Amino acid sequence: MIRLRERLRRRTGPLTDELERVDGPVGQVPVRLAPDAVVRTVCGFCSTGCSLDVHVRDGSAVNVTPTVDHPVNLGMACPKGWEALTPLGAPSRATAPLVRDGRGRLRRASWDEALQVTVDRFRAVQRDHGPDALAFLSTGQIVTEEMALLGAVAKLGMGIVHGDGNTRQCMATSVVAYKECFGFDAPPYTYADFEASDVIVLIGSNLCVAHPIMWERIVRNPHDPTIVVIDPRRTETAMASTEHVALRPKSDLTLLYGLAHLVIRDGFVDDAFVSEHTVGFEGFTTFVAAFTPERVAAETGVPASQLETLAATIGRGERVSLWWTMGVSQSHEGVRAAQAIIALALLTGNIGRPGTGANSITGQCNANGSRLYSNTSSLFGGRSFTDEGDRAEVEAVLDMPPGTVPDRPSWAYDQIVEGIASGAIRGLWVIATNTAHSWINQDEVRDLLDRLDVLVVQDMYATTDTAQLADVVLPAAGWGEKEGTFVNSERRISRVRRVADPPGEALSDFEIFKRVAAAWGCGDQFEAWSSPEAVFGILKRLSAGRPHDFTGIDGYAHLGHRGVQWPFPVDPPAGVEGSADERRLFADGRFFTPDRRARFVWDEPRRPAEATSRRYPFTLLTGRGSSSQWHTGTRTSTSALLRSLAPAEPYVELHPDDAAALGVADHEWVVVTSARGSLRARAYVTATIGQGQVFIPMHDVQTNRLTYPSFDPHSRQPSYKHAAVAVRALEAWER
Ligand code: SF4
Repeated sequence: MIRLRERLRRRTGPLTDELERVDGPVGQVPVRLAPDAVVRTVCGFCSTGCSLDVHVRDGSAVNVTPTVDHPVNLGMACPKGWEALTPLGAPSRATAPLVRDGRGRLRRASWDEALQVTVDRFRAVQRDHGPDALAFLSTGQIVTEEMALLGAVAKLGMGIVHGDGNTRQCMATSVVAYKECFGFDAPPYTYADFEASDVIVLIGSNLCVAHPIMWERIVRNPHDPTIVVIDPRRTETAMASTEHVALRPKSDLTLLYGLAHLVIRDGFVDDAFVSEHTVGFEGFTTFVAAFTPERVAAETGVPASQLETLAATIGRGERVSLWWTMGVSQSHEGVRAAQAIIALALLTGNIGRPGTGANSITGQCNANGSRLYSNTSSLFGGRSFTDEGDRAEVEAVLDMPPGTVPDRPSWAYDQIVEGIASGAIRGLWVIATNTAHSWINQDEVRDLLDRLDVLVVQDMYATTDTAQLADVVLPAAGWGEKEGTFVNSERRISRVRRVADPPGEALSDFEIFKRVAAAWGCGDQFEAWSSPEAVFGILKRLSAGRPHDFTGIDGYAHLGHRGVQWPFPVDPPAGVEGSADERRLFADGRFFTPDRRARFVWDEPRRPAEATSRRYPFTLLTGRGSSSQWHTGTRTSTSALLRSLAPAEPYVELHPDDAAALGVADHEWVVVTSARGSLRARAYVTATIGQGQVFIPMHDVQTNRLTYPSFDPHSRQPSYKHAAVAVRALEAWER
């Protein structure tokens, strides 16, 4: 493999920054690449943020290899990274604007016409139903500069109040958990912590499949770590762990409180850390005292002896890191579960040191950029729309008059969907997300999208389920066809480079937002937002004095080929330790709350909204199917190689005893039904799933016909991981 990379490098030339000479709108001014060169960029799929070297031959991008000397991926990439260029050439790309005609068909239109129709119909919605009747849904897949421009144009220029992103589906829980406990949305870790821990606890995380390069970092850990996986399924990661804790679905909060009780009871508390750096320990201790091993065993299905052992493992570990992903976050009580994980780290003083931390791993490549700068649920820079001082700060930096920033927060994604149902929302602008596939309880949302007065979809594909429902389709450039930055899971800001031209008339999202602003008549307001790098400068000024302050980054050139983790202020404060490559937060035990102390936050566990019943006796779990598939498959399904690495047909994992009771054989077709819909799938009979549970990957377009629309009350993140379903053999169902 190394020889292959070296051969590719020799053939395609030296590492180059040649692209910096490109100017003018992407889609109109062709990219100019050196004839033979290597362009370093960051992957556009998951939040790991692997560095990729794009090899250019005769002026065209021809191949990708993972960067060898990079602090994130150390020369590795998963199948999606290796195939990063393939989706750009897919025949399903949107190549021209489309407008739905009087006969209900999408027909080709000019950019001028499509933008005019968009603006006229959006204005009609606002005129007839008020400004709040228009909303937007964005994404964690575009560069930060584009997200910020959208948030600015929509909220400061077009008078839109309600806008959210598909990031609500993956990381809203972690945002709220961190804000309440640390005073700011601040994932504290660096990936080097995977290699420095002696105890690694993965909660609701199938890292091997969802974040394979992070798993590789664990494999490289030289300390022979204890690896604990807390997950109802015996996932690929659980199989590779040293201990699998197979709890009942959605009993994680009870389990975590039980562990906290044992840590306190057995004297594993770091008293000095807790008394100097936290608030709420006494109340938390009293609360968790009720979570005895016997009670927790009865409610979670985890034997009391295993709980005691696990608590001792965490208590005795010298460098314990606790990591969570969607198994925790996509829950009806995900925020409190994440905060219980944070509490375990605080109790044992496992934060701010190498190999420690209460660490949320995000999903999308730029979820962390969205958290800071999408200007949706938070005002720019993690500020609040309802705080007068915050609004004034933003208006001053942007040189806009007082009153420009709305003083009301946005509705969350589910509230926007409810708004469509109630008729409060009549127009919707969807950018780079496939709501009709990925939103929970899909049949309802498709029906609702169909009811809108106007739906505008801006996407690199015209074939998505959502684009097919649109009144206007605006064709957009994809990753690899534009410039900007991503922020990965460990807060690293890295450059995304342009290595190809978008097809046909497609334009960068940046250029589309500028054109929408011009057509709306508010273009002058955003004159200073002239290019992605100019916007990066504005965002840098908006970060000044904030916990994520990156005013020390001197433009794109400073990001170099390795990126920079935030914070990176001009004068680093105490607590920002380590080299530019590796930074973790809270080394000084000072958090971002007013008194600089972290908080214990807790609540009584609640049952999931939908219980199993005689009619629907199985608990449906959903999740990632393979490392070659990305979310709705819009991009990864365009690669024959990636398709070949995942089952071609939909499947459902079923326990052997359940299969026997149902009379279902391995690979037989079955029908899975919930109170909302049904799907057909091959039965994959396996003991990796618990009895009474079934697992279906989220990538299949049918999966969200089954899911139940319940939401965490604090983060409003959907609970994709729990619904009641029935399974029957197809033959029996058809009879
Ligand atoms: Fe790395 Fe994620 Fe891209 Fe795979 S998808 S190469 S793990 S960033």
